[in-house]
Amino acid sequence: MSIAESLLELIEESGRHQGFSRVRTVGVKVGALGHVEPAALAFCFGAVSKGSVAEGANLTLTVVPGEGWCERCRHTIPLAERYAPCPTCGDHVRLTAGEELRLAELEVE
Ligand SMILES: [Zn+2]
Repeated sequence: MSIAESLLELIEESGRHQGFSRVRTVGVKVGALGHVEPAALAFCFGAVSKGSVAEGANLTLTVVPGEGWCERCRHTIPLAERYAPCPTCGDHVRLTAGEELRLAELEVE
């Protein structure tokens, strides 16, 4: 629920800057390795946005695949799990994508 609330805060903050009164579509990028369950987020967002500028808005979630950087091999590796080792050298991989929750797009009136 708190994730949906922080998302709504981000939207309301842009509302104050841009001065819109109604949000039609909210585009969100969600990392595949993050803690966000897309279906749960959509549900919670519907609940917390009641009475706000985003009430009834269409939530579009784009899942960002996990990606890591191996310092030893010096290349980017697709990651299916958060703590997966490098498939080439078995070394620890630094997570570079897949954990984000980002407001990507707002369609407003
Ligand atoms: Zn490696």
